[in-house]
Amino acid sequence: MDSLAVMMYIFVFLLGITVGSFLNVCILRIPAHESIVTGPSHCTSCGKKLKWYELVPLFSFLALRGHCSSCKARISLQYPIIEAVNGCLWLAVIFLKGFTPFAALACLFSSALLTLSVIDARTREIPPGISLFVLILGLIAALIDLRNWQTHLIGLFAISLPLYLIFQLTQGKGIGGGDIKLMAGCGLFLGWKLIVLGFFLGCAFATVIHLTLMAFKKADRTLSFGPYLSLGIFVAMLFGHAFIDWYLHLFM
Ligand SMILES: [Zn+2]
Repeated sequence: MDSLAVMMYIFVFLLGITVGSFLNVCILRIPAHESIVTGPSHCTSCGKKLKWYELVPLFSFLALRGHCSSCKARISLQYPIIEAVNGCLWLAVIFLKGFTPFAALACLFSSALLTLSVIDARTREIPPGISLFVLILGLIAALIDLRNWQTHLIGLFAISLPLYLIFQLTQGKGIGGGDIKLMAGCGLFLGWKLIVLGFFLGCAFATVIHLTLMAFKKADRTLSFGPYLSLGIFVAMLFGHAFIDWYLHLFM
């Protein structure tokens, strides 16, 4: 790898953690129905407005050693973790998909999945605004991949329609409405092959991880599906085509 490529990847990571700190704002404010664009950042403990140098993603947390400079209250580990995870997601996407328009969309898509996963895990609800954002990303992805428009259009319905039927049959007990909207947007974004793969991966992750959590940590019986679906979809987006090719070759 040459030094220019290294610089580009460092830039992607820094951009990723910067957007990650915006995701923290979304995670805190969207469920509380607060504005995500107005209102200065402040310490949630003493209300002190943060200076610019206390808002540098990841580095501020390390420099402040995880405490507010004014009241010394402990700053939630959520902040650096979300920032670092988002930086790593963006790095993984760009590393595997290259510097392409689709990869840029895929970065935003990954950030949306991360944000809704944390919100869903906490509140058991996927905010409609994030589903709408994913749907818009899906529309743009379909437009820049116009020669495969059928793949994207079928993807819009491939999982969401069966889930909607289950939703109707079980009167909303079998599946959440938020999951259906999410799968519609993700399907439009990825196309039908990857959304089908992503959905089944998500179900597999949910089964394995949730049963493990239930066994060891006495986790709740009801599960928020969003984080598992998101993980399955993210893996399918990055490795799905390679996996499908490998699978089809087994039979040819
Ligand atoms: Zn404080």
